[in-house]
Amino acid sequence: METGQDVEGEPATSATSAMFDYAPAPESRSIVDIASSYGLFVNGEFVDPTGGKSFKTINPATEEVLAEVSEASEEDVDRAVKSARVAYTRVWSKMSGRERSKYLYRIARILQERSRELAVLESLDNGKPIRESRDVDVPLVAAYFFYYAGWADKLEYAGFGTGTPQPLGVAAQVIPWNFPLLMLSWKIAPALAAGNTVVLKPAETTSLTALLFAEICQQADLPPGVVNIVTGAGATGRTLVSHGDVDKVAFTGSTDVGRQIAKSVAGTSKKVTLELGGKAANIVFDDAPIDQAVEGVVNGIFFNQGHVCCAGSRLLVQESLADDFLARLKRRMATLRVGDPLDKNTDIGAINSSEQLAKIRELSGVGEAEGAGRWAPPCDLPDKGFWFPPTIFTGVTAAHRIAREEIFGPVLSVISFRTPAEAVEKANNTPFGLSAGVWTDKGSRILWMANQLRAGVVWANTFNKFDPTSPFGGYKESGYGREGGRHGLEAYVR
Ligand code: NDP
Repeated sequence: METGQDVEGEPATSATSAMFDYAPAPESRSIVDIASSYGLFVNGEFVDPTGGKSFKTINPATEEVLAEVSEASEEDVDRAVKSARVAYTRVWSKMSGRERSKYLYRIARILQERSRELAVLESLDNGKPIRESRDVDVPLVAAYFFYYAGWADKLEYAGFGTGTPQPLGVAAQVIPWNFPLLMLSWKIAPALAAGNTVVLKPAETTSLTALLFAEICQQADLPPGVVNIVTGAGATGRTLVSHGDVDKVAFTGSTDVGRQIAKSVAGTSKKVTLELGGKAANIVFDDAPIDQAVEGVVNGIFFNQGHVCCAGSRLLVQESLADDFLARLKRRMATLRVGDPLDKNTDIGAINSSEQLAKIRELSGVGEAEGAGRWAPPCDLPDKGFWFPPTIFTGVTAAHRIAREEIFGPVLSVISFRTPAEAVEKANNTPFGLSAGVWTDKGSRILWMANQLRAGVVWANTFNKFDPTSPFGGYKESGYGREGGRHGLEAYVR
């Protein structure tokens, strides 16, 4: 990234970045052992796919091929579901909660022990900065396993009615590429704690950490068949969720695929949770702590390259503060470092795939064509790989596509408002309802806003904070059901 350049006539870079240049600080990838090819994880072992098909997974920062990953056929999915059923009937559903919790604790501890390896592999396969995979994703993954390990022997105290809640059976779980390991933990930990067995399909572009997790299950001596991992594309996911012997479907991903899944399970007895897209408003009032709010807005949209379902992709800023706030935001954006995900100083890594990059470019082009003002700091992007600079659009109105559709990239739409009522109206003017943020000095205003905002999660004077004890989920087109906390457990019991 270039430094010392002007942003619309102002000294763009902060004093810090003008004074210091960062030396490269790359994390070593030698801790990770990537095999040239991977089988499917079924019944406790890695097996070849019946059709012999495979696909390549690449490092999105360099386009280097990392490994060949198996593509599970219908037969393979059936094999995995059968193995989960046998493990459920013979072993896992019969085991006491206390015993199940020991396995979950063991997995959690191994996750911690192998955290550096997991973080490096996640950054290589996904493109996210090591600072995030190391400090956010992997610690949270272990925390979710620890948290649900604690519930496994206390289900009757979870407040789900009288008697001990019973597991559902076999859970089919399909996850996206933006938080591969973290989404795996949100799915697998509560399912296992409640006594279910699982078949999980990771996203095509980010299967490697799920396969490393399979090795961790082996290391923890988890009984065969309790966790099965089938890799593949959308067709594998479709086969899995529509399998006749599945009792529960849990999906995180796009609203379009969520809709298809809801249709495919309609009329069956399968229990479903869908965690879909979002278009969150991050609302800044003129009495907010401004510098903290700038940090919160930056974290809200540029964390994980904006590949976050609850990203604060619409900044709603009070008109009286707008100019000052935008100037500060631009200055801060000019200090963001885009580049090598394995460099410990990197703030923004690679876009996960060429398809996603094309979508971000297309929607940004639409934003410009529809008349919004586009701005990005001067930024040297690497020649190879998939990159997009942190970008903001000003003068955005509710009619613009960039204000309505999930871009799923480092692109922020800026909208102004005058009164709290107008902020609420604009924030709620979206088909989604996953999250929102409010920045103000007044506690009473926070409570009032939280009551008015139609979003599953409302953060106050912070953004993108996750905790295993806290339920997460949306309404409207953001899906239904909750993950995390006691609520996340409820989705896996009857
Ligand atoms: P998808 O919703 O297609 O992918 C999520 C998961 O579902 C992946 O494992 C995918 O497999 C699988 N899948 C795809 N089609 C089906 C199907 N018919 N039945 C069952 N499973 C299926 O997201 P994309 O990766 O295609 O991303 C497209 C857009 O979705 C993004 O641009 C973004 O806007 C949004 N998105 C939102 C997410 C969120 O958390 N809200 C997460 C990811 C994407 P495969 O990887 O092989 O396609």
